Amino acid sequence: MIGMVALMAAGVGTFASAGANGADGDLTSLGYEPAGSPRTTGAQARAVDAEVDVSRDFDRPKLERRTAVLATQRAQTLRQVDRDITATAQVREREEKVRAQQEEKRRKQWVLPVAGYTLTARFGQQSSMWSSGAHTGLDFAGPSGTEIVSVAAGTVTSAGYEGSYGNRTVITLPDGTKISYCHQSSFDVEAGDQVQPGQPIGYTGATGNVTGPHLHLEVEPPGSGPADPVPVLREHGISP
Ligand SMILES: [Zn+2]
Repeated sequence: MIGMVALMAAGVGTFASAGANGADGDLTSLGYEPAGSPRTTGAQARAVDAEVDVSRDFDRPKLERRTAVLATQRAQTLRQVDRDITATAQVREREEKVRAQQEEKRRKQWVLPVAGYTLTARFGQQSSMWSSGAHTGLDFAGPSGTEIVSVAAGTVTSAGYEGSYGNRTVITLPDGTKISYCHQSSFDVEAGDQVQPGQPIGYTGATGNVTGPHLHLEVEPPGSGPADPVPVLREHGISP
C-alpha cells in the first residue's frame, strides 16, 4: 500500500514536470521569442531560460525585454532587405547602362558594305573610264547580286537611276556626310528610310558606266566633293 502511494507520487511529479515544460513550449510557439540571434533554436531558448532560472511560466518584464529585442531585430532585418533591394536596383541600373552603351556602340559602329570582294579601283586613280578623269570612289568587285549593306546609320536621301552611276542609293549620315552605293542591280530601300549599320540596302550589279559588276562606294563629307573613302572608313574602325 505504501509502495503504491510512492509510485503515484512519483507519477504526479513526472506529470507536473512535463506540464511545466509543455507550458514553456506553448509560449514559444505563440511568438515568445528568445533573446539573441533570430536563429536561436527552441532548445537554446530553453537553455537560456534554465540559466536565468525562470520559475514562472509567464514573466512580463522579461517578455517585454524580449519583445523589444525582437522589434529591433525585425527593424534591422527590414533595413537589410531595403539595402538588398537598393543594391539589386543599382546592379540592374548598371546592367541597363552597359546595354545602352553597347547598343549605342553598335549603332555607331561602321561596317564594310559587301563581303567577298576585290578592290579594283581606288580613289584618285586616272582612267579614260571616268568622265572627270580621276576615280571618285572605291570599287568593290564581286559577283552580281551580292548583298550591299549600309556602312553607317543614316537616312536614305535617294534611291534611283543616276546616269553613269547606274542604280544609286545615297545615304546621308547625321553629320551630313553622304555615302553613295552605285551600279546596283536592285534596291532594298527607298528615300526617307532610316537605316542602321549592316542593314541590307540593295544588290550589286553592273548598271551605269561599268566594265563589270562591282560596287562603287563614294563618300562625300559635308561641304566638299568626294573624298577618299579609305581614310574615312579607317577613322571608323574598318579597313577595306
Ligand atoms: Zn568606281
